[in-house]
Amino acid sequence: MNNLFYHISAFLLFALTISSCNRTPQEITIQSPNKQLNVTVGQDKGEPYYNVIFNEDTLIMDSKLGLIFGSQFDASHGFEISKIEHSSKDTIWETVWGEDQFIYEKSNDITLHLQQTQKNKLHLILQFRLFNDGVGFRYILPQQQNIDSLYLTNELTEFNFTSDNKAWAFEVDYDSYEKPYHSNILSKLDSVQTPFTMKTPKGVYLSIHEAALKNYASMTLKKSIKNKTSFECNLVPWPDGIKVKADRSLQTPWRTIQVGNKATDLINSRLILNLNEPTQYVDTEWIKPMKYMGIWWGMHLGQQTWYAGPKHGATTKNTLELIDFAAEHHFDGILVEGWNYDWKKFGQWDFKKPYPDFDIKKITEYGKKKGVELIGHHETSGNVELYESQLDSALNYYQAHNVKAIKTGYVGQIKNGQYHQGQWMVEHYQRVVEEAAKRKINIIAHEPIKPTGIRRTYPNFLSREGALGQEFNAPWSAVNNSPSHTTILPFTRLLGGPMDFTPGIFALTYDKYGIKDKRVNTTLAKQLALYVVIYSPVQMAADLAENYKGNDAFSFIKEVAVDWEKSIALNGEIGEYVTIARKERDGDRWFIGSITNEQKRELEISLDFLDPDKEYLAQIYKDGETANWKENPYPVQMIHRIVQKNDKLNLSLASGGGEAIIITPVQ
Ligand code: CA
Repeated sequence: MNNLFYHISAFLLFALTISSCNRTPQEITIQSPNKQLNVTVGQDKGEPYYNVIFNEDTLIMDSKLGLIFGSQFDASHGFEISKIEHSSKDTIWETVWGEDQFIYEKSNDITLHLQQTQKNKLHLILQFRLFNDGVGFRYILPQQQNIDSLYLTNELTEFNFTSDNKAWAFEVDYDSYEKPYHSNILSKLDSVQTPFTMKTPKGVYLSIHEAALKNYASMTLKKSIKNKTSFECNLVPWPDGIKVKADRSLQTPWRTIQVGNKATDLINSRLILNLNEPTQYVDTEWIKPMKYMGIWWGMHLGQQTWYAGPKHGATTKNTLELIDFAAEHHFDGILVEGWNYDWKKFGQWDFKKPYPDFDIKKITEYGKKKGVELIGHHETSGNVELYESQLDSALNYYQAHNVKAIKTGYVGQIKNGQYHQGQWMVEHYQRVVEEAAKRKINIIAHEPIKPTGIRRTYPNFLSREGALGQEFNAPWSAVNNSPSHTTILPFTRLLGGPMDFTPGIFALTYDKYGIKDKRVNTTLAKQLALYVVIYSPVQMAADLAENYKGNDAFSFIKEVAVDWEKSIALNGEIGEYVTIARKERDGDRWFIGSITNEQKRELEISLDFLDPDKEYLAQIYKDGETANWKENPYPVQMIHRIVQKNDKLNLSLASGGGEAIIITPVQ
């Protein structure tokens, strides 16, 4: 919390106070730099509120703001605005890794000081930051007189939508962020997780989420009793019902509203990252995006086991073989799950004790020689207190074996009664990332807290699951992601940040394993396209090595980049289709991924993002003529074409299909 006041005072240094007249206005409107977005903030009868207008269309009507601290005090009424400060930002910053190397950060900012006139005489600060692609706002409760601990029982933030928008969402479960998305109108929804994405009847797209979630509980939304299109903040509680515990002061995450005229505007928005603090890491050389394989899918298929026995996956022999395959095909790492003692005692294991058939020293030394890192695995199975008790030694153990990235897991409920999305766990995930950073270790969290852009501040939080990934296509899963699932993710979950989806399954049906009723519901070409569409700085080739051998389409996975200079969503409609182009960082190639839902479709894309006066070779991996996800998922047509900036490309996506393209300048 000490940092908080440093940030506030730094903010005030360049802020311009306009409240020089006798009485501060009690309502103020600010505009985005391009003037399309207007937000009014004020107080009415002492109660703070805001509203949002986009291109003269009111998206959010007057909505309440305020914080309640049980019987301690009430920071929701009795306020006057005592001071208003304006400032603006116009800068470009460089990412350590990401969708774009440089990010444009241009905003108009306002800070409102609210002062209670009676009773507790509380001082509450509201900050609003308007970008062309949306708005973020947060509360700051500075230190008050005679208060040294805070117990937040409710955040009153409302989102009173003006119309019965169509939304894509899943219902709230404090312990699971892995649920199928449904599309429905607001009036039919009760509780939703964020990013909560909508399309208004007038065709405006917006998404509610949060940025910089730290030392606070995750925000979910629930239907407000006010009207059928109103939602209010519902923070995930501690077991005792308190929402957030703090010492003398409190700063909430930014509540964000991303806005656009096209669905792709949401994907092209960098608002969430812009609302996070720059990293303080001095050295970031050790933080590297990577492609990896793993001893993982075999367990999901039931061909191997996590625990020791005749089918144990994590053996020295299996791992050395996979290192050879990974090295031959230029992968950077391999993940090995089920390596530590004792998976039969689920959740009671030792993070420093390998099974006897897993010789970690031999494996990591061999990997080093071959240029393939071991990616560590810490599955807590929800026994987070046990993990915390071993955290230092477990990280030290991997560090000693030269492990530079660890996948963490939090399957099941948290054993001590906390929720995955509550403050205690938010702080746990944070602690792991900070402790890992001290040892130059990167973290890929599964069953994580949702992403809110803190990767800008903590770039070693490389990726995370959160949402239904490939594992829910495994034989054990009752979910079996529908063909439309991955056409919803880029407009919802992925607005928060990267996802370790683990694409690249080539054996889409499981007949060869004797499994009839389960499969991956895509074509093979779509699996390739997912490497570009679903952004992650770590991308897995998730299938077994044997399923890649002899398949020419594997060349796309070998070539595809994982770190980008520039990313552009070219077209898309939520739940229907999406096409994304990305230019590799430190290289000249572009990669394009395009995917569709059950609907077969033709799309025309312009290549005007290419450099002028250059010829390029386009290597196209498209659905074969007879391909479709249901009956014939495997045919992939590989075509080469010379293309230029002025060209258009026609994509033809099969039902449940996709297309992946590499565009390389011709020397
Ligand atoms: Ca999972």
